[in-house]
Amino acid sequence: MAWEARWEDPQSVGWLVQEHVRCGKANCGCARDRAARHGPYWYLYWRECAEDEETTRLRKRYVRREEVNTVRARIETTKAEERREREEIGAEMEWLRNLSAALREIRTRRRSRR
Ligand SMILES: [Zn+2]
Repeated sequence: MAWEARWEDPQSVGWLVQEHVRCGKANCGCARDRAARHGPYWYLYWRECAEDEETTRLRKRYVRREEVNTVRARIETTKAEERREREEIGAEMEWLRNLSAALREIRTRRRSRR
């Protein structure tokens, strides 16, 4: 699901980060002093598939304070869906392993009967 989901809704698989930022004004304290930076502000980071479809690049966008809970909820929902999918796939793999074992046993019994 990973890549497809990333294409469809890249911002639902990102992570939220708080950062202190520079405002860009040369005469502001934040230009030289890390402690004088503004914020913290929330940013959403996510990895996006690059044009070559093999590498990824890191993207980020600003998240308004009133938007944070919505974004966080969306991230959690996606994670839960991915977890559920992994569990389902795990159960199917288990079923296939059991089936293979059963088939092997049947084959062995047939051979021993001949
Ligand atoms: Zn500043």
